[in-house]
Amino acid sequence: MTDATNPAGTVIVAIDGPAGSGKSSVSKQVARRLGYGFLDTGAAYRALAWLALDRGTDTSDSTSVLDVMGDFDYAISLDPDEFWVRVGTADVTDAIREPQVSEAVSGVARVPAVRQSVNALFRSLVAASDLPGVVIEGRDITTVVAPDAPVRILLTAAPEVRAARRSAELTSQDAAAVAAALHRRDASDSAVVDFLTAAPGVEVVDSTHLDFHQTVDAVIGVIRTNVPAQDGSAR
Ligand code: C5P
Repeated sequence: MTDATNPAGTVIVAIDGPAGSGKSSVSKQVARRLGYGFLDTGAAYRALAWLALDRGTDTSDSTSVLDVMGDFDYAISLDPDEFWVRVGTADVTDAIREPQVSEAVSGVARVPAVRQSVNALFRSLVAASDLPGVVIEGRDITTVVAPDAPVRILLTAAPEVRAARRSAELTSQDAAAVAAALHRRDASDSAVVDFLTAAPGVEVVDSTHLDFHQTVDAVIGVIRTNVPAQDGSAR
């Protein structure tokens, strides 16, 4: 995806950010409002971590992770209203959000060959879609997966706000434990990809003092500034 658009003219909106920045829910809502697809790239890494755990693989060992990658049969929906993730015939949409997967995921995401392979998967998914646009969210979308996208955004929020949001989502877990897990994951992830600093040309949307709807509006504002309306209608 070195081109701003694929052959079908699909507009790419690249959104990066740390855990708890609201990336997923905001990207999904932006996609709904614009009639775009939504690609959650973290779900691919999570699905691979799920498969590795399911097989009892040591996710800190790159060679074992690559073995699992060889059998990784992954499918994901681009529809923001009907979101699912499958590994083979197993629907893992909910299972990939379990804390043990969140703990293991940085280990698999650290392996360069894994990153290359899932990035190729993302590019082919978008190229095969005939959607007017796709919001792709992750950690390296603005820099590696779609560096030439017409819209590139880093969605941030203060660490304590991110921790509070994540613990509100995971109501069954202790707030302090959720915050500690989130900061641990940020620390290991940022050793692989710098998603806390905006690359040149990437617009920062800081949601620390914005509610959900205001954040969605802010992102749509950036899109409107960078992408002319394709059908003449106001988006
Ligand atoms: O976005 P989410 O928190 O679901 O991502 C899960 C994990 O996948 C991250 O903690 C990170 O290790 C990895 N990831 C990545 N690059 C991306 C998206 C996610 O390394 N583009």
